[in-house]
Amino acid sequence: MHSPAIKQVLNIFKQLRDIDSSVSDQGEKITEIMRKICLLTDAESVFCYSVADDNYLELLADFGEDIPVLKKPRIRFGEGLIGEIAAKRRLINVENFNFGSKIALPGENNPEKSFAGLPIWQWNRVIGVLAIVKSSPIGNEIDILQNIAMFLAEILTSPQMGQYRQDLRKSRGIGSKERLRGISLNKGYGLGSAVIHRRLQSVTNIFAEDKQKEKQLLAISHRQMVEDLDNQLNETRLGLGEHTEILSAYKMFAKDKGWYAKIVDNIEAGLSAPAAVERTFEDMWNRLSASSDIYLKERLHDLRDISDRLLSYLSGQGDKKTPDIKGDIILVAQSMGPAELMDYEYERIRGIILEEGTPTMHVAIVAKALNIPVLAKIKGVFNEIQAGQTIAIDGNDGFVYVNPSPHRIKEFALKIAESKEERQRLAALREKPCVTKDGIKIGMYLNIGLPLDFDYIKETNCDGVGLYRTEIPFMSSESMPDAAKQFSYYDDLLSRCGDKKVIFRSLDVGSDKLLPYWAYGGEDNPAIGWRSIRITLDRRAILRTQIKAFLQAAAGKDLYVMFPMIADYKEFEEARETLFLEAQRQQKRGCAMPKNIKVGLMIEVPSVIFQLDNILPIADFISVGTNDLAQFMFACDRGNPRLLNRYGVLSAPFLAVLKKIVDKAKFYNVECSVCGEMASNPAEALALLGLGYRNLSCSGAMYGKIKNMILSIDCASLEDYIMSLSGSSRESLRSQIISYAYDHDIEIY
Ligand code: PEP
Ligand code: MG
Repeated sequence: MHSPAIKQVLNIFKQLRDIDSSVSDQGEKITEIMRKICLLTDAESVFCYSVADDNYLELLADFGEDIPVLKKPRIRFGEGLIGEIAAKRRLINVENFNFGSKIALPGENNPEKSFAGLPIWQWNRVIGVLAIVKSSPIGNEIDILQNIAMFLAEILTSPQMGQYRQDLRKSRGIGSKERLRGISLNKGYGLGSAVIHRRLQSVTNIFAEDKQKEKQLLAISHRQMVEDLDNQLNETRLGLGEHTEILSAYKMFAKDKGWYAKIVDNIEAGLSAPAAVERTFEDMWNRLSASSDIYLKERLHDLRDISDRLLSYLSGQGDKKTPDIKGDIILVAQSMGPAELMDYEYERIRGIILEEGTPTMHVAIVAKALNIPVLAKIKGVFNEIQAGQTIAIDGNDGFVYVNPSPHRIKEFALKIAESKEERQRLAALREKPCVTKDGIKIGMYLNIGLPLDFDYIKETNCDGVGLYRTEIPFMSSESMPDAAKQFSYYDDLLSRCGDKKVIFRSLDVGSDKLLPYWAYGGEDNPAIGWRSIRITLDRRAILRTQIKAFLQAAAGKDLYVMFPMIADYKEFEEARETLFLEAQRQQKRGCAMPKNIKVGLMIEVPSVIFQLDNILPIADFISVGTNDLAQFMFACDRGNPRLLNRYGVLSAPFLAVLKKIVDKAKFYNVECSVCGEMASNPAEALALLGLGYRNLSCSGAMYGKIKNMILSIDCASLEDYIMSLSGSSRESLRSQIISYAYDHDIEIY
């Protein structure tokens, strides 16, 4: 049986739900809820604001007595009490309130009046403010407001709300944000319905009639989650050694009795199990985030993860994400890792929109391979775009159109059809040999990561795979794949490639490529931290298992293994020895062996360029990873949108470094290619050919464009031209290279 207090809350929620289901007009619905709040709390006025962007809140609805300082169409963050609640993310409850003041500060003019307001939360973000004014001190009403705020959070983020907000702005003469501007991380056009990618599931059923049932659901879901975590931990223990400690701590957190008890308390107070998890998370987040204790603050990440996980189990989804929107989709996310992208059916993704944060370049690389336009750094995107709204994304000019007009939709549909035609035209080049006008054969390879990339092998008739990012299947697995599982990935790829060459890159994880089942230590500088070859040399068992799977899969064929992020001779020597030692072991065991084993490395760390005289004599091939090389050459985080386009790979110093590498490789007769993004961009690939590179490995989506460019160049003339640019002090030589292409009828778009 519920206590009278809970009965009262349940009754309130029943009334709110009735309003929600019976009133379809969003404006009327919110105003009706405001009216209800006035009745329930005996307030004289009530105000509901929603966050418009990083700087402003906008008034969504109010009811009761007009108080000009509280009833403004727009209020800046930090302005007055309403703005203060949003900026400081905290509750404010004051008596003796001076409404005569312009910015609503406590004072002596209105001894009778009290004010209370609190943030409306969605996950850990403030999405609005709810406030009341009363003639008497405010106490118990806070609880009612808190519960109603949870209910309002759902309404504020509902798909219908977007339209209401836009109508409201129009009626106030504020230009609606039909068009948002962002930074393009991948070109192209897309149309689809918005899907909001979020860590925490949205809670639709806040209050439950039967708390016994809710507690049961919680117990079952929690048990299942802990069991799954236990299994994962055991599997991981095999391969990861000391990381079990960190994972154990994570698991202990999941089993924490205090956390569980708090959720139960919230159910006892009348919340549904998911709402109780969310409320517990918010309470703890509010308390811990204010703490100066770094350890406690760090636990917030675990708390977020665990709460998210538990919500998924409560919703019956386990830890899988599936949008409930049909047809083509545009993903809207705060930030996103490449593994998260793979949680969706990527055939349906027509665009990705990232809010300011840390959109990683890896997500853009994956998106590029999939031909998906990506825009980043769009402030307040969550307030402008609601789930289900139609979105048009223009990755060429960097615009997003929310609820585009029928005319704009037509225009986009045309552009999309044109791009498709262009792809078909380029695909027709398939049968032509990849030879320049002056008869030089250029090796054209593919970068492969996702299963979808496999289709390009046949489609493009490429020379092989110049980079297989083996970490991608690791990142989309639920736990560390064992040797047998890895064998199946590599065997599958090799059999699709027939006689074509395939370069397997050893596991390149860390930095922004995180394995979901591996707890990382939280480094200050992960891009230059414990990552890639540094991890696999330190955890040799992981490397050996992978090598074993390579050897088995390539039995009877040529095996090419490439080590990433090599910074010095010693690392390469050790990695190489590990490979040959494992091969010897396999041979002794009588296993079928590859015909030949070729070992190479990626040139990504500047220090290694100065050791090529030592390294090249023991390497069979090298491949330049221009993404990381540029990051380390310019000391410029490749995932930081603020630094995007700040330094150019088409600058004289970078081209000089690339020239040095290719010349050294030629001198030592070592095969040399480029597998970084430069090889997937026609203007940049043109420069590479001019520097003397004769092998390129690019993304499948760009293959046709690159090949088209190659067929129309004259290498000798191009080399002379690129050499004439050396020593230039210009920031970028892009415009010169584009002019050269234009003058010589070379298609680079
Ligand atoms: C690179 O750094 O250029 C590269 C190809 O590797 P990744 O992008 O996977 O780090
Ligand atoms: Mg790299």
